[in-house]
Amino acid sequence: MQAKVRLKALLFDMDGVLVDVSRSYRRAIEETVLHFTGRQIVPGTIRRYRYLGGFDDDWKLTRAIITDSGMEVSPGRVIDEFQRRYRGERWDGFIAEEPPLVQTRTLERLQADGRILGIVTGRPEAEVKWTIERFGWKRYFPLIVAREKTEQRGKPDPFPLQHALSVLGIAGRQVETEEAVYIGDTVDDMAAARAAGLWAVGTVPPDADRAEHERHLRDRGAHLILDDLDTLPDLVDSFGERLALAAATNEQEKTA
Ligand SMILES: [Mg+2]
Repeated sequence: MQAKVRLKALLFDMDGVLVDVSRSYRRAIEETVLHFTGRQIVPGTIRRYRYLGGFDDDWKLTRAIITDSGMEVSPGRVIDEFQRRYRGERWDGFIAEEPPLVQTRTLERLQADGRILGIVTGRPEAEVKWTIERFGWKRYFPLIVAREKTEQRGKPDPFPLQHALSVLGIAGRQVETEEAVYIGDTVDDMAAARAAGLWAVGTVPPDADRAEHERHLRDRGAHLILDDLDTLPDLVDSFGERLALAAATNEQEKTA
């Protein structure tokens, strides 16, 4: 593996990476399931579904929990109840209480040297824009590929990431796959990055068990795991070396 890897584009998943959704989504899922089933979710249920993968958004995940309990409900009704709690009538739902997971000056540093930052997410575009506006991050993310752009082909399908790179190409900012990294917190993020030929960097969301989460992400192809998003500028500067180190450590663990 070459030691020098120059990253021209950093693509981020939003939920659980840039934004702490551990409370907001969990509460929306719990309350929506309770609404339809009349029952509280058993602790650990949401985590189990997440590691299973294949739900490119929490609406589908919520509906799966409900239907697996033996109840039939249409996707539209699940979305309505979920959104009533998550977004609220006037953007006053749980979304308004989500904390950022990265400092603004970190984004500032990352954007130096002409690097492009983008968001590739299953979140609806209006909710992406509302949240980055709230954090004052609009200028850092010129590229946003949200849910509407990838209908039917969300992660783990590589399409959203491929689409992001082609948007850059059309804008005259050609980026090769090996010059781009996708930073995500789920097994589907890692699978999508790998399938698109990008570097896959995993993060551990605040509510997850670190060791367990890392194991799941590595199993699905994470090249590297990042402890803290604010250390990303250092990682980007020494990306090639860190990749080589991680590969060597993985080898050692396999033979140990
Ligand atoms: Mg996520």
